[in-house]
Amino acid sequence: MSLGLLYVDKKLIYDLSFKEIQDFVILSGFKRYCADQIWSFLYRRKVKSFFDMHNLPNQLIQLLEEKYHFKALEYVLHHKSADKTTKFLFSLKDKHLIEVVLMYQYYGISICVTTQVGCNIGCSFCASGQLSKKRNLTSGEIVCQILEAERISKQKVKHVVVMGIGEPFDNFDHLKKFLFVINNNKGISIGARHITVSTSGIVPKILSFSKLGIQVNLAISLHAADDTIRSKLMRINNVYGVEKLINAVREYVKVTNRRVTFEYIMIDGVNDSIESALSLVNLIKDIKSYVNLIPYNQVIEAPYKRSKIENMNKFYDILKKNKIQVTLRKEMGHDINAACGQLRSQHSKNINL
Ligand code: SAH
Ligand code: SF4
Repeated sequence: MSLGLLYVDKKLIYDLSFKEIQDFVILSGFKRYCADQIWSFLYRRKVKSFFDMHNLPNQLIQLLEEKYHFKALEYVLHHKSADKTTKFLFSLKDKHLIEVVLMYQYYGISICVTTQVGCNIGCSFCASGQLSKKRNLTSGEIVCQILEAERISKQKVKHVVVMGIGEPFDNFDHLKKFLFVINNNKGISIGARHITVSTSGIVPKILSFSKLGIQVNLAISLHAADDTIRSKLMRINNVYGVEKLINAVREYVKVTNRRVTFEYIMIDGVNDSIESALSLVNLIKDIKSYVNLIPYNQVIEAPYKRSKIENMNKFYDILKKNKIQVTLRKEMGHDINAACGQLRSQHSKNINL
Protein backbone atom coordinates (compact mmCIF):
# COMPACT_ATOMS: atom_id res chain seq x y z
CA MET A 1 0.00 0.00 0.00
CA SER A 2 1.35 3.46 -0.90
CA LEU A 3 1.94 6.13 1.74
CA GLY A 4 -0.77 8.24 0.11
CA LEU A 5 -3.33 5.50 0.57
CA LEU A 6 -2.21 4.96 4.14
CA TYR A 7 -2.88 8.62 4.91
CA VAL A 8 -6.33 8.53 3.30
CA ASP A 9 -7.19 5.49 5.40
CA LYS A 10 -6.17 7.13 8.65
CA LYS A 11 -8.94 7.96 11.10
CA LEU A 12 -9.33 10.99 13.31
CA ILE A 13 -7.98 10.08 16.76
CA TYR A 14 -10.48 12.42 18.48
CA ASP A 15 -13.34 10.29 17.11
CA LEU A 16 -12.47 7.52 19.56
CA SER A 17 -14.17 7.14 22.92
CA PHE A 18 -12.01 6.26 25.91
CA LYS A 19 -13.27 2.68 25.69
CA GLU A 20 -12.35 2.47 22.00
CA ILE A 21 -8.81 3.66 22.77
CA GLN A 22 -8.58 1.13 25.57
CA ASP A 23 -9.77 -1.70 23.29
CA PHE A 24 -7.29 -0.65 20.61
CA VAL A 25 -4.41 -0.62 23.10
CA ILE A 26 -5.27 -4.00 24.64
CA LEU A 27 -6.00 -5.72 21.31
CA SER A 28 -2.67 -4.47 20.02
CA GLY A 29 -0.94 -6.21 22.93
CA PHE A 30 -0.09 -3.20 25.13
CA LYS A 31 -0.90 -2.47 28.77
CA ARG A 32 -4.31 -1.04 29.61
CA TYR A 33 -2.79 2.03 31.32
CA CYS A 34 -1.39 3.17 27.96
CA ALA A 35 -4.97 4.22 27.12
CA ASP A 36 -4.98 6.59 30.13
CA GLN A 37 -1.68 8.00 28.95
CA ILE A 38 -2.94 8.54 25.39
CA TRP A 39 -6.13 10.18 26.70
CA SER A 40 -4.14 12.51 28.91
CA PHE A 41 -1.79 13.45 26.04
CA LEU A 42 -4.77 14.21 23.83
CA TYR A 43 -6.96 16.14 26.24
CA ARG A 44 -4.74 17.38 29.09
CA ARG A 45 -1.42 18.11 27.42
CA LYS A 46 -3.12 18.56 24.04
CA VAL A 47 -0.23 17.26 21.96
CA LYS A 48 -0.62 17.26 18.18
CA SER A 49 1.66 14.36 17.26
CA PHE A 50 1.98 10.78 18.49
CA PHE A 51 5.76 11.33 18.57
CA ASP A 52 5.19 13.79 21.43
CA MET A 53 3.60 11.03 23.54
CA HIS A 54 6.99 10.40 25.09
CA ASN A 55 6.35 7.73 27.68
CA LEU A 56 4.43 5.39 25.34
CA PRO A 57 6.23 2.32 23.93
CA ASN A 58 7.78 3.10 20.52
CA GLN A 59 5.83 0.34 18.78
CA LEU A 60 2.56 1.77 20.06
CA ILE A 61 3.51 5.22 18.80
CA GLN A 62 4.28 3.70 15.38
CA LEU A 63 0.98 1.84 15.33
CA LEU A 64 -1.02 4.93 16.28
CA GLU A 65 0.84 6.93 13.64
CA GLU A 66 -0.09 4.36 10.98
CA LYS A 67 -3.77 4.33 11.87
CA TYR A 68 -4.74 7.78 13.13
CA HIS A 69 -4.33 11.49 12.44
CA PHE A 70 -5.02 14.74 14.34
CA LYS A 71 -6.33 17.10 11.70
CA ALA A 72 -10.05 17.83 11.93
CA LEU A 73 -10.31 21.58 11.44
CA GLU A 74 -8.39 24.29 9.68
CA TYR A 75 -8.65 27.85 10.94
CA VAL A 76 -10.06 30.25 8.30
CA LEU A 77 -10.78 33.52 10.10
CA HIS A 78 -12.27 35.01 13.22
CA HIS A 79 -14.17 38.16 14.16
CA LYS A 80 -14.06 39.69 17.61
CA SER A 81 -16.83 41.97 18.79
CA ALA A 82 -16.68 44.92 21.17
CA ASP A 83 -17.85 42.67 24.06
CA LYS A 84 -15.01 40.18 23.17
CA THR A 85 -17.41 37.59 21.77
CA THR A 86 -15.31 35.82 19.16
CA LYS A 87 -16.66 33.96 16.18
CA PHE A 88 -14.39 31.47 14.42
CA LEU A 89 -14.81 30.06 10.98
CA PHE A 90 -13.16 26.67 10.46
CA SER A 91 -12.86 24.50 7.38
CA LEU A 92 -13.41 20.73 7.67
CA LYS A 93 -11.29 18.20 5.75
CA ASP A 94 -13.86 18.16 2.94
CA LYS A 95 -13.75 21.99 2.84
CA HIS A 96 -17.18 22.57 4.36
CA LEU A 97 -17.23 25.60 6.64
CA ILE A 98 -18.44 25.64 10.24
CA GLU A 99 -18.81 28.32 12.91
CA VAL A 100 -17.84 28.34 16.56
CA VAL A 101 -18.57 31.19 18.98
CA LEU A 102 -16.65 31.97 22.16
CA MET A 103 -18.50 34.14 24.70
CA TYR A 104 -16.96 35.84 27.72
CA GLN A 105 -19.63 35.52 30.42
CA TYR A 106 -19.34 36.73 33.99
CA TYR A 107 -19.21 33.07 35.11
CA GLY A 108 -16.43 32.07 32.68
CA ILE A 109 -15.87 31.35 29.03
CA SER A 110 -18.62 29.63 27.16
CA ILE A 111 -18.39 28.04 23.71
CA CYS A 112 -21.16 27.45 21.19
CA VAL A 113 -20.40 24.42 18.99
CA THR A 114 -21.75 23.27 15.64
CA THR A 115 -23.02 19.72 15.08
CA GLN A 116 -23.91 19.59 11.38
CA VAL A 117 -23.02 21.23 8.07
CA GLY A 118 -26.34 22.99 7.40
CA CYS A 119 -29.59 21.84 8.97
CA ASN A 120 -32.59 19.98 7.60
CA ILE A 121 -35.10 21.29 10.12
CA GLY A 122 -35.50 24.46 8.05
CA CYS A 123 -36.89 26.92 10.60
CA SER A 124 -38.09 29.99 8.71
CA PHE A 125 -36.23 32.51 10.91
CA CYS A 126 -32.81 30.81 10.92
CA ALA A 127 -29.87 31.37 8.56
CA SER A 128 -28.69 27.77 9.01
CA GLY A 129 -32.13 26.43 8.18
CA GLN A 130 -31.81 27.79 4.66
CA LEU A 131 -28.81 25.52 4.02
CA SER A 132 -29.92 21.93 3.70
CA LYS A 133 -27.83 19.48 5.69
CA LYS A 134 -24.69 18.41 3.85
CA ARG A 135 -23.51 16.03 6.54
CA ASN A 136 -23.27 15.31 10.24
CA LEU A 137 -20.13 16.26 12.10
CA THR A 138 -18.33 13.40 13.82
CA SER A 139 -17.86 13.55 17.59
CA GLY A 140 -14.16 14.30 17.06
CA GLU A 141 -14.93 17.23 14.80
CA ILE A 142 -17.15 18.68 17.53
CA VAL A 143 -14.54 18.04 20.25
CA CYS A 144 -11.87 19.76 18.12
CA GLN A 145 -13.96 22.95 18.01
CA ILE A 146 -13.25 23.29 21.73
CA LEU A 147 -9.58 22.32 21.45
CA GLU A 148 -8.95 24.71 18.53
CA ALA A 149 -10.87 27.65 20.02
CA GLU A 150 -8.92 27.19 23.28
CA ARG A 151 -5.62 26.95 21.42
CA ILE A 152 -6.19 30.07 19.32
CA SER A 153 -7.71 32.20 22.08
CA LYS A 154 -5.38 30.83 24.80
CA GLN A 155 -8.44 30.61 27.07
CA LYS A 156 -9.96 27.71 28.98
CA VAL A 157 -13.56 26.90 28.11
CA LYS A 158 -15.76 26.38 31.18
CA HIS A 159 -19.23 26.01 29.62
CA VAL A 160 -20.43 24.39 26.41
CA VAL A 161 -23.66 25.13 24.59
CA VAL A 162 -24.62 22.92 21.67
CA MET A 163 -26.42 25.72 19.85
CA GLY A 164 -24.35 26.31 16.73
CA ILE A 165 -25.34 25.24 13.23
CA GLY A 166 -27.37 22.04 13.05
CA GLU A 167 -29.88 20.03 15.03
CA PRO A 168 -27.92 18.01 17.60
CA PHE A 169 -30.68 15.40 18.00
CA ASP A 170 -30.51 14.72 14.26
CA ASN A 171 -26.89 13.62 14.93
CA PHE A 172 -27.60 11.80 18.17
CA ASP A 173 -24.86 9.16 18.27
CA HIS A 174 -22.04 11.61 17.60
CA LEU A 175 -23.57 14.09 20.02
CA LYS A 176 -23.67 11.42 22.73
CA LYS A 177 -20.05 10.42 22.16
CA PHE A 178 -18.99 14.08 22.16
CA LEU A 179 -20.72 14.67 25.52
CA PHE A 180 -18.99 11.71 27.14
CA VAL A 181 -15.58 12.71 25.72
CA ILE A 182 -15.70 16.29 27.01
CA ASN A 183 -17.19 15.23 30.35
CA ASN A 184 -14.52 12.56 31.02
CA ASN A 185 -12.70 13.72 34.15
CA LYS A 186 -9.32 12.44 33.00
CA GLY A 187 -9.49 14.70 29.96
CA ILE A 188 -11.22 17.97 29.07
CA SER A 189 -13.42 17.45 32.14
CA ILE A 190 -16.27 19.89 31.57
CA GLY A 191 -18.92 19.25 34.21
CA ALA A 192 -22.19 17.93 32.80
CA ARG A 193 -24.08 20.76 34.48
CA HIS A 194 -21.93 23.17 32.51
CA ILE A 195 -23.13 21.68 29.22
CA THR A 196 -26.42 22.56 27.50
CA VAL A 197 -27.89 20.90 24.43
CA SER A 198 -30.55 22.78 22.48
CA THR A 199 -33.11 21.06 20.29
CA SER A 200 -35.87 22.16 17.97
CA GLY A 201 -37.94 19.37 19.52
CA ILE A 202 -37.31 15.92 18.03
CA VAL A 203 -39.58 14.11 20.49
CA PRO A 204 -38.20 10.52 20.40
CA LYS A 205 -34.68 11.85 20.93
CA ILE A 206 -35.78 13.97 23.91
CA LEU A 207 -36.88 10.69 25.48
CA SER A 208 -33.56 8.97 24.59
CA PHE A 209 -31.67 11.97 25.97
CA SER A 210 -33.49 11.67 29.30
CA LYS A 211 -32.07 8.15 29.64
CA LEU A 212 -28.42 9.00 28.91
CA GLY A 213 -27.52 8.99 32.58
CA ILE A 214 -25.51 12.21 32.33
CA GLN A 215 -26.60 15.47 34.00
CA VAL A 216 -26.39 17.64 30.87
CA ASN A 217 -28.91 20.50 30.60
CA LEU A 218 -31.63 20.44 27.98
CA ALA A 219 -32.96 23.53 26.18
CA ILE A 220 -36.04 23.41 24.00
CA SER A 221 -36.44 25.94 21.18
CA LEU A 222 -40.12 26.60 21.76
CA HIS A 223 -40.62 30.09 20.24
CA ALA A 224 -44.42 29.81 20.35
CA ALA A 225 -46.93 28.09 22.61
CA ASP A 226 -49.59 27.48 19.99
CA ASP A 227 -49.43 25.25 16.95
CA THR A 228 -50.40 27.84 14.33
CA ILE A 229 -47.57 30.24 15.16
CA ARG A 230 -45.03 27.53 15.93
CA SER A 231 -45.70 25.70 12.66
CA LYS A 232 -45.15 28.93 10.77
CA LEU A 233 -41.75 29.37 12.42
CA MET A 234 -40.70 25.74 12.68
CA ARG A 235 -42.02 23.20 10.22
CA ILE A 236 -40.92 20.41 12.58
CA ASN A 237 -44.02 21.41 14.55
CA ASN A 238 -46.10 19.69 11.86
CA VAL A 239 -44.47 16.42 12.92
CA TYR A 240 -44.10 16.99 16.66
CA GLY A 241 -46.72 19.54 17.64
CA VAL A 242 -46.77 21.53 20.87
CA GLU A 243 -48.73 18.91 22.84
CA LYS A 244 -46.41 16.03 21.88
CA LEU A 245 -43.39 18.21 22.61
CA ILE A 246 -44.64 19.27 26.03
CA ASN A 247 -45.49 15.68 26.95
CA ALA A 248 -41.92 14.67 26.07
CA VAL A 249 -40.58 17.53 28.18
CA ARG A 250 -42.73 16.41 31.13
CA GLU A 251 -41.33 12.90 30.74
CA TYR A 252 -37.75 14.30 30.61
CA VAL A 253 -38.32 16.27 33.84
CA LYS A 254 -39.87 13.19 35.49
CA VAL A 255 -37.01 10.86 34.53
CA THR A 256 -34.13 13.26 35.22
CA ASN A 257 -35.67 15.51 37.88
CA ARG A 258 -33.92 18.34 36.06
CA ARG A 259 -35.19 21.77 35.12
CA VAL A 260 -35.63 22.36 31.42
CA THR A 261 -34.95 25.66 29.61
CA PHE A 262 -37.39 26.99 27.05
CA GLU A 263 -35.84 29.30 24.48
CA TYR A 264 -38.15 31.88 23.03
CA ILE A 265 -36.87 34.26 20.35
CA MET A 266 -38.81 37.51 20.27
CA ILE A 267 -40.02 38.31 16.73
CA ASP A 268 -41.92 41.48 16.02
CA GLY A 269 -45.64 40.94 15.39
CA VAL A 270 -45.29 37.15 15.24
CA ASN A 271 -44.95 35.67 18.75
CA ASP A 272 -44.60 38.70 21.03
CA SER A 273 -48.21 39.67 21.81
CA ILE A 274 -49.88 39.64 25.22
CA GLU A 275 -51.96 36.64 24.07
CA SER A 276 -48.75 34.78 23.14
CA ALA A 277 -47.31 35.51 26.59
CA LEU A 278 -50.46 34.24 28.30
CA SER A 279 -50.62 31.11 26.22
CA LEU A 280 -46.96 30.42 27.10
CA VAL A 281 -47.77 30.84 30.81
CA ASN A 282 -50.66 28.45 30.43
CA LEU A 283 -48.57 25.85 28.63
CA ILE A 284 -45.63 25.63 31.02
CA LYS A 285 -46.87 26.90 34.40
CA ASP A 286 -46.68 23.49 36.06
CA ILE A 287 -43.39 22.38 34.45
CA LYS A 288 -40.09 22.69 36.30
CA SER A 289 -38.61 25.11 33.82
CA TYR A 290 -36.99 28.37 33.00
CA VAL A 291 -37.67 30.68 30.06
CA ASN A 292 -34.92 32.42 28.13
CA LEU A 293 -36.32 35.29 26.07
CA ILE A 294 -33.91 36.04 23.24
CA PRO A 295 -34.04 39.19 21.10
CA TYR A 296 -34.29 37.94 17.51
CA ASN A 297 -31.13 38.54 15.49
CA GLN A 298 -32.19 39.67 12.05
CA VAL A 299 -30.68 37.70 9.17
CA ILE A 300 -30.82 38.50 5.46
CA GLU A 301 -32.17 35.03 4.76
CA ALA A 302 -35.45 35.64 6.66
CA PRO A 303 -38.22 38.24 6.59
CA TYR A 304 -38.54 38.76 10.35
CA LYS A 305 -37.71 41.68 12.60
CA ARG A 306 -36.73 41.86 16.24
CA SER A 307 -39.53 42.69 18.71
CA LYS A 308 -39.71 46.23 19.94
CA ILE A 309 -38.09 46.65 23.34
CA GLU A 310 -41.38 47.71 24.98
CA ASN A 311 -43.07 44.52 23.74
CA MET A 312 -40.21 42.38 25.01
CA ASN A 313 -40.49 44.06 28.41
CA LYS A 314 -44.29 43.59 28.50
CA PHE A 315 -43.88 39.92 27.59
CA TYR A 316 -41.27 39.50 30.31
CA ASP A 317 -43.48 41.19 32.91
CA ILE A 318 -46.45 38.92 32.15
CA LEU A 319 -44.27 35.84 32.65
CA LYS A 320 -42.79 37.23 35.87
CA LYS A 321 -46.22 38.16 37.26
CA ASN A 322 -47.37 34.63 36.62
CA LYS A 323 -44.41 33.21 38.56
CA ILE A 324 -42.58 31.83 35.53
CA GLN A 325 -38.80 31.95 35.97
CA VAL A 326 -37.58 34.08 33.11
CA THR A 327 -34.65 36.13 31.82
CA LEU A 328 -34.48 38.47 28.88
CA ARG A 329 -31.16 37.41 27.44
CA LYS A 330 -28.47 39.98 26.99
CA GLU A 331 -27.47 39.79 23.39
CA MET A 332 -23.83 39.03 22.63
CA GLY A 333 -21.77 39.70 19.54
CA HIS A 334 -24.46 41.57 17.61
CA ASP A 335 -21.83 43.56 15.69
CA ILE A 336 -20.17 40.40 14.38
CA ASN A 337 -23.34 38.61 13.24
CA ALA A 338 -23.23 36.05 16.00
CA ALA A 339 -26.59 34.51 15.05
CA CYS A 340 -26.17 30.94 13.97
CA GLY A 341 -25.19 30.50 10.32
CA GLN A 342 -24.55 34.16 9.57
CA LEU A 343 -20.77 34.25 9.32
CA ARG A 344 -20.62 31.07 7.27
CA SER A 345 -23.26 32.30 4.84
CA GLN A 346 -21.57 35.68 4.41
CA HIS A 347 -18.11 34.18 3.92
CA SER A 348 -19.49 31.69 1.38
CA LYS A 349 -20.98 34.57 -0.61
CA ASN A 350 -17.71 36.46 -0.53
CA ILE A 351 -15.72 33.56 -1.87
CA ASN A 352 -18.54 32.24 -4.10
CA LEU A 353 -18.92 28.86 -2.43
N1 SAH B 1 -30.98 23.31 16.18
C1 SAH B 1 -30.99 23.55 17.56
C2 SAH B 1 -29.72 24.19 18.07
C3 SAH B 1 -29.11 25.25 17.19
S1 SAH B 1 -30.01 26.73 17.04
C4 SAH B 1 -32.21 24.37 17.95
O1 SAH B 1 -32.89 24.86 17.07
O2 SAH B 1 -32.48 24.46 19.13
C5 SAH B 1 -29.73 27.48 18.62
C6 SAH B 1 -30.75 28.52 19.01
O3 SAH B 1 -30.59 29.69 18.20
C7 SAH B 1 -32.19 28.06 18.81
O4 SAH B 1 -32.97 28.37 19.93
C8 SAH B 1 -32.62 28.86 17.61
O5 SAH B 1 -33.99 29.00 17.58
C9 SAH B 1 -31.86 30.15 17.82
N2 SAH B 1 -31.75 31.00 16.62
C10 SAH B 1 -31.60 30.62 15.34
N3 SAH B 1 -31.54 31.70 14.53
C11 SAH B 1 -31.64 32.78 15.33
C12 SAH B 1 -31.65 34.17 15.10
N4 SAH B 1 -31.53 34.66 13.89
N5 SAH B 1 -31.79 35.00 16.16
C13 SAH B 1 -31.90 34.51 17.42
N6 SAH B 1 -31.88 33.20 17.71
C14 SAH B 1 -31.77 32.34 16.67
FE1 SF4 C 1 -31.84 24.06 12.46
FE2 SF4 C 1 -31.94 25.07 14.95
FE3 SF4 C 1 -31.72 26.69 12.80
FE4 SF4 C 1 -34.01 25.40 13.25
S1 SF4 C 1 -33.03 26.96 14.57
S2 SF4 C 1 -32.96 25.57 11.28
S3 SF4 C 1 -33.27 23.47 14.06
S4 SF4 C 1 -30.22 25.20 13.50
